[in-house]
Amino acid sequence: MKPLISIVVPMYNESQNIDCFYQKIAEVMGALTAYDYEIICINDGSTDNTLEKIELLADKDKKVKIIELSRNFGKEIALTAGIFEAKGDAVIPIDADLQDPPELIPALIEKWQEGYDVVYATRLVREGESSLKKVTAFLFYRVMRRLAKVNIPPDTGDFRLMTRQVVEAVNQCTESHRFMKGLFSWVGFRQTSIPYLRNRRHKGITSFNYWKLWNFALEGITSFSFVPLQLATYVGFLTALFSGVYIAYIIVKTWLYGDPVAGYPSMMVAIFFFGGAQLMTLGVIGEYIGRIYNESKRRPLYFIRKKTNF
Ligand code: UDP
Ligand code: MG
Repeated sequence: MKPLISIVVPMYNESQNIDCFYQKIAEVMGALTAYDYEIICINDGSTDNTLEKIELLADKDKKVKIIELSRNFGKEIALTAGIFEAKGDAVIPIDADLQDPPELIPALIEKWQEGYDVVYATRLVREGESSLKKVTAFLFYRVMRRLAKVNIPPDTGDFRLMTRQVVEAVNQCTESHRFMKGLFSWVGFRQTSIPYLRNRRHKGITSFNYWKLWNFALEGITSFSFVPLQLATYVGFLTALFSGVYIAYIIVKTWLYGDPVAGYPSMMVAIFFFGGAQLMTLGVIGEYIGRIYNESKRRPLYFIRKKTNF
């Protein structure tokens, strides 16, 4: 029996990329004769003809399996569904737009054979992405690293190889706010990385605008860090310290020079400052409470409309 490798591909409106993606994957995996493989395509409620295209492929090639979700659940959930259904001894999540090069898979497998449980691919450069995206991504990974106790590797997406043992561990994490690369790191095991050059998207445009990315970053931070909740404590502590000094200053000043009324501007500044600080910390607390509320509903993560070739 050859070891089975599951390629897990979340797809949302990727019809332009599917044929090229399938060709590349089939080529790379076909060359690895020592392994069997399956390609699990998750149709994440696409509104174009992505589903028809993968159904055609699945008809011809039984290695292509389809999970059709009941609607668009977003990439993290699509990935969750795919990984859950994957039966492979190793599981490799990969994007359908060829931004994660399939040619790298043999190198991932090689590291796995050396005894690593997780082999992730770290981007050296990102082609065809705006400087704003590069800068925000750079900052996000660094802030995340500072705030979270988990060691989330910088410049690393979901593209990686995980052994069955790791996948089982990830599957046991049942939270509904899923920041997948956080979970992948959080489970631990022996992890290593290989560098690669990130391509531009083959066809089509990214479905992540800056608002989505901002929310994705919030998800990452709130899922793995309490630091923002503690922010209020430190802001409060600092302002208390500052006001102590300021009070002393006012007392001394009044002693020396008396107090000719005034004080309106500084009072307004103080009110606005504390108002702002309080609203901000309330907002932070709201982010967490909203997530607690969502988790407490314990809803299923997704619904599958149909499975093909399983
Ligand atoms: N994707 C998905 N559901 C969504 C959005 C995206 O399954 O709601 C898939 C998409 O088809 C692709 C991968 O997630 O395979 C990465 O998406 P995209 O290329 O838009 O993101 P980026 O590369 O810009 O981070
Ligand atoms: Mg992409």
